[in-house]
Amino acid sequence: MSEYMQTYQVRRVLTHHDGLKSFRFGRVLNAAPGQFVLAWLPGADEKPFALSGVFDDEIEITVKAVGPFTRQLMNVKAGDWIGLRGPFGSGFQLVERMVLVGGGIGNAPLRYLAQLLREENMPFRWVLGVKTAEDLAFREELEMMPECTVVSENGSIGQKGRAVDVLAAMHESEPIGALAASGPEGMLLAVHEFAKTTSSEIPVQLSFERYMKCAVGLCGQCCLDGTGLRICVEGPVLSGHQLHGVTEWDQPHRGPSGRRPEL
Ligand SMILES: Cc1cc2nc3c(=O)[nH]c(=O)nc-3n(C[C@H](O)[C@H](O)[C@H](O)COP(=O)(O)OP(=O)(O)OC[C@H]3O[C@@H](n4cnc5c(N)ncnc54)[C@H](O)[C@@H]3O)c2cc1C
Repeated sequence: MSEYMQTYQVRRVLTHHDGLKSFRFGRVLNAAPGQFVLAWLPGADEKPFALSGVFDDEIEITVKAVGPFTRQLMNVKAGDWIGLRGPFGSGFQLVERMVLVGGGIGNAPLRYLAQLLREENMPFRWVLGVKTAEDLAFREELEMMPECTVVSENGSIGQKGRAVDVLAAMHESEPIGALAASGPEGMLLAVHEFAKTTSSEIPVQLSFERYMKCAVGLCGQCCLDGTGLRICVEGPVLSGHQLHGVTEWDQPHRGPSGRRPEL
């Protein structure tokens, strides 16, 4: 794949529930975990999605329905055609004794990261934070993985609480080599703050989301204020030292016009 659009037939659709699905395409792809593709639905729009899995001759994205485009994607069936461009952006680096921290659909790219860590025989742990049990994709697969700890806000699955709540105890039981986080920005900020409180300051890699247009670094739509970093090129995965000076942590993001909702 490249920055040029190519259409692919959807090979398989995995329904986690009506508003949460994974789509597999027959495609060989060399991509790092955390990198994303742009998916184009003819007549609808083109939007970014991280890879939730890369297999011998298939790639997979996992999508949560939140708005017009993602709701339309929920109607896509095996055999339908979708345009794909990519992979784009930066990915996660694999580190020994890494702890993966995911919030909701942010767990999607961490699934691919976990897949690679396993293949490399690198020990890791994965904290999956969800609002409710329904938000957890790949439940059966995850239940077979001893590395996983599920935390839910309403206690409907796993421990009750937030993903970041379990990190201190984890670090105490076995020092964390690095933190890889993907999810809502409030969660990313909490992970970043936690890392700074530890004596040796655990290195962090955080995956950011912004409204995206060109995905090749030209339009500036997805720049992170205070740093000028483009989420589509230098990101979406940024390391702790790249984040000094960010002035828009957990603020409402710019919409399609480039304006923030409150302006
Ligand atoms: C690098 C990158 C990787 C991404 N990877 C994935 C992925 O793997 N799976 C996935 O489902 N999405 C992913 N997204 C987000 C995805 O691109 C958006 O969900 C999608 O653009 C929404 O389009 P829409 O037209 O359906 O909704 P929009 O009209 O754009 O949004 C509708 C409403 O939902 C809110 N919203 C938007 N995104 C989210 C969200 N993720 N969670 C909660 N509320 C949201 C908006 O603020 C708005 O209020 C990624 C985004 C980026 C930048």
